[in-house]
Amino acid sequence: MNQEEFRDHISTIDSEGKRAYVHPKKAQGPWMSRRQTLSYVLLFFLFSGPWWRIGSLPLLQLDVLHRRFILLGQVFWPQDFHLLVVFMLLGVLSVIVFTVAFGRIFCGWICPQTIFMEHVFRRIEYWIDGDRNAQIRLQNMPWSAEKIQKRVTKNFLFGVVSFAVSNTFLMYIIGTDAWLRLIQDGPRQHLGGFLTILLFTGVFFFVFAWFREQVCLIVCPYGRLQGVLLDRNSLVIAYDRLRGEVRGLIKKGEDRTAAGKGDCVDCGLCVQVCPTGIDIRHGTQLECINCTACIDVCDTVMDKVEKPKGLIRFASENNIADKTPFQYTARLKAYTVLLLALVTLMGALLFMRLEVEATILRAPGQLFQNRDTAITNLYTYKLINKTGRSANLSLEIAPESRARIQWIGSSAPQEDAKGIIKGTFFVWKSTKSIRKSKEKIEFMILMDGQVVDRVSTQFYGPK
Ligand code: SF4
Ligand code: SF4
Repeated sequence: MNQEEFRDHISTIDSEGKRAYVHPKKAQGPWMSRRQTLSYVLLFFLFSGPWWRIGSLPLLQLDVLHRRFILLGQVFWPQDFHLLVVFMLLGVLSVIVFTVAFGRIFCGWICPQTIFMEHVFRRIEYWIDGDRNAQIRLQNMPWSAEKIQKRVTKNFLFGVVSFAVSNTFLMYIIGTDAWLRLIQDGPRQHLGGFLTILLFTGVFFFVFAWFREQVCLIVCPYGRLQGVLLDRNSLVIAYDRLRGEVRGLIKKGEDRTAAGKGDCVDCGLCVQVCPTGIDIRHGTQLECINCTACIDVCDTVMDKVEKPKGLIRFASENNIADKTPFQYTARLKAYTVLLLALVTLMGALLFMRLEVEATILRAPGQLFQNRDTAITNLYTYKLINKTGRSANLSLEIAPESRARIQWIGSSAPQEDAKGIIKGTFFVWKSTKSIRKSKEKIEFMILMDGQVVDRVSTQFYGPK
């Protein structure tokens, strides 16, 4: 076969341009066991996550309906957008550092797409349809009672898992209390919520039952970044071509060294176990999700043919070519320094974050009102209680400003305030105490009787 031919097509599309389904052979071995254990731990956290509490708040909630984000019991509002930007930069840089050092390790070990595909949906498929050969036989056979029964059972189970995942994702958005209300009240009272669950169920079912590895190959941008992130020192899953080539089938009684053959016995098992259908012997490819299945299967083959394990292993290009050990390169050091700087910045921003954020602005379109012996200015205020718990918030004028507040209507902050409160008030200042047409005026923000912040703005009077 032409060794360069793989460059002309992708493994999941056949010569007629149709989707070529990948039926990976079940992989077993120490790497698979490690990944499986980690996957189950992560799945446990994913499904139980919405039920965990720190104080009265969930561990993680993307409460888009109330425009807030809860992480580790801390509530973040749109006003904390700068924190989100730093947090996202931190996330992107961490992924870059790990990719430069360890290749696409995130994909194979942590990404929810791989975890659900390989350790949940693929397991169900092996259980119902059998291993690779049985799956291919089933796909190619005409419709029969056996095929209908297997297809119905498998898709029903896929649907049940998709439904469970969909409910869990909804809990991360609306919270467990709202989700329980939704379930108890039924679809009539919460038609929107139930349609959302069904929509998410459909999306997950489509992704895991049909679209599968295509997410990693054509949707996810991360795989495409590999080309710019990886270098010759990055640790990737690599085939040791110096040791493996020239590949060739085992012939009884043949002296492989004398025949010029390497350790690869061309069994093709590394291709058969690959969930993205590639041949790692062609070198690092963007389709490789670092799942380690080819390492496990090749080690089994090496054991059988009494050769050392590790023909396919975690190794850098330099390690394969010159046996150079892993190097902490200048590029990696620069990324690490940047990462530490961002971690420090994030820590400082979180440390300096106030429990209450106050905005006090003069009402637009008005300068001042003359009221016999006093001047008044109109203000609007907004207080954001970021603690996520009820608290008694109040707003007072600092004594040195020598003025008083008159609330308009029921604008005064209420007891047990939670979230965002806003309103309007006048500030009265006696004419005698006004020395300039524009004076600084200071407000104190109190939470449960304690001053937590001071905010100043302008007070206008006559010239
Ligand atoms: S599993 Fe190992 S021996 Fe078999 S084809 Fe792949 S690299 Fe060669
Ligand atoms: S090449 Fe190996 S590690 Fe990469 S996706 Fe295929 S089986 Fe997994």
